[in-house]
Amino acid sequence: WSSTNFPWTKKLEANNKKVFGNHSFRPNQREVINATMSGYDVFVLMPTGGGKSLTYQLPALVCPGITLVISPLVSLIQDQIMHLLQANIPAAYLSANMEWTEQQEILRELCSDYCKYRLLYVTPEKVAKSDVLLRNLESLNGRGLLARIVIDEAHCVSQWGHDFRPDYKELGILKKKFEKTPVLALTATATASVKEDVVQALGLVDCIVFRQSFNRPNLWYSVIPKTKKCLEDIDKFIKENHFDECGIIYCLSRMDCEKVAEKLQECGHKTAFYHGNMDAAQRSFVQKQWSKDEINIICATVAFGMGINKPDVRFVIHHSLPKSIEGYHQECGRAGRDGQRSSCVLYYSYSDYIRVKHMIIQGQAEQSPWTAGCGRNNMKSSDRILEKNTENLLRMVSYSENDVDCRRLLQLLHFGEKFDAGNCGNTCDNCSKIKTLVERDVTESAKQLVELVKLTGQHFSSSHILEVYRGSLSQFVKRHRHENLSLHGAGKHLAKGEASRILRHLVIEDFLAEDVKKSDFYGSVSSVLKVNESKAHKLCSGGQRIVLRFPSSVKASKQGKSEA
Ligand code: ADP
Ligand code: ZN
Repeated sequence: WSSTNFPWTKKLEANNKKVFGNHSFRPNQREVINATMSGYDVFVLMPTGGGKSLTYQLPALVCPGITLVISPLVSLIQDQIMHLLQANIPAAYLSANMEWTEQQEILRELCSDYCKYRLLYVTPEKVAKSDVLLRNLESLNGRGLLARIVIDEAHCVSQWGHDFRPDYKELGILKKKFEKTPVLALTATATASVKEDVVQALGLVDCIVFRQSFNRPNLWYSVIPKTKKCLEDIDKFIKENHFDECGIIYCLSRMDCEKVAEKLQECGHKTAFYHGNMDAAQRSFVQKQWSKDEINIICATVAFGMGINKPDVRFVIHHSLPKSIEGYHQECGRAGRDGQRSSCVLYYSYSDYIRVKHMIIQGQAEQSPWTAGCGRNNMKSSDRILEKNTENLLRMVSYSENDVDCRRLLQLLHFGEKFDAGNCGNTCDNCSKIKTLVERDVTESAKQLVELVKLTGQHFSSSHILEVYRGSLSQFVKRHRHENLSLHGAGKHLAKGEASRILRHLVIEDFLAEDVKKSDFYGSVSSVLKVNESKAHKLCSGGQRIVLRFPSSVKASKQGKSEA
């Protein structure tokens, strides 16, 4: 796809320079543009700041017809339109909170044969709820004027992701109605299973996937045990490392945001809070103050984030445990967009895990309207979502409790990406800690884990395998009668962190593979462990030993419940 021999190549290059003021293309931009302009459905994973907008704005400029862009937030859309109009590219948007007369005017323009717009932005609820819009799109399509459909922040389609939005789920209708129109789905975050889910929900056909490394070399990661002195620690950390610089502190609840902001204010930082209980005007006021550097630090819930493009955010602190590695990676990604060194610090405690778990269960109960009332199958589907969310959270716990492996390697592994260096050159706490590590032969446990994956039919996730291995008698274990397996509890002498490190090593070294499983019946996906026979055979027949290094000071019992 990187060819410069497409019929449109010259036109692309000229417009990239003249209209957008870019001297060249960034990684994958040309490839994505060529693929979408060739008429294929395309799925793009590109880190924040990678330049996703150009991949549809440039085609919109050089192709006949209108590009429909679905984007989740009105503020994001307004920002984009402002830039487009500045570059003399006619564009408009429709959203539910717009004056009806204004909407009418835009719809009228769409009906005209000489419609001036190159791009039309809409929020997803417009597609889900507005018949008028769909009728207009049908008419455009009938006249051969619907050039392309772009779905920005496409991970919001997936219930397995960290940012599911019910209105996004309805977007599958677009491919059903406009079969021949190419769809371009864009996101800065997606694991293999989220990607599968998005492709399936949107009904993309023979989709071409572009993905880039998710490594952000200028971000420095660390995890610090959270104690009662956490706020003093944060104050000290900022004063020592980032005084008077700009940052975000992510908090779990609205009350936490206000408490943390107040305390830091007392310590002499310019701080404000931001959460869902404030009205839109208050929130946008705080965001503007922060953008203009009138305040340095925002203490916010995860409601603060999407569409922030302040380049000089020097630190992102997590005051409590994020709900998933994906969410964590994306929240950290708001730091250092200018490429300068920035810090990502996570304060971890086991009791926060319990708090977050409660919130997930409660949130599930509150969210059930979109699954409720649809009979038994949907009850099952909400159970599965709860299960998936719990698994996501457990992975975050295991990341936080791991005090040996490179943080970068662990995060990238989560996105199915190998970090070949294996060590990030002291840009994470684990790589830079001087530790006394002792080597231990874990071949027996490794063999048992591989065997257990086989015994359970290669149908289960890593967290379930670990539960069975360590002898859990949870309902889920019993439902599958896994307490009767010969290897149930075979690893109970190991600490949770130790067992999960051995299992992760088996995945890193390709003895096991984390595979995306599709359920035909529910149309859902989840990730399960499979055995890579050719490699596993050597291990299981005794032809290979596995030796891992463990911290010598950490006792088995320290893992798991180290909370102060
Ligand atoms: P994303 O949506 O992937 O986070 P954007 O599309 O907002 O990223 O682009 C991030 C920044 O990079 C913008 O300021 C944009 O103008 C700039 N940019 C995009 N493509 C190029 C390019 N080829 N050359 C130079 N700058 C670019
Ligand atoms: Zn590292």
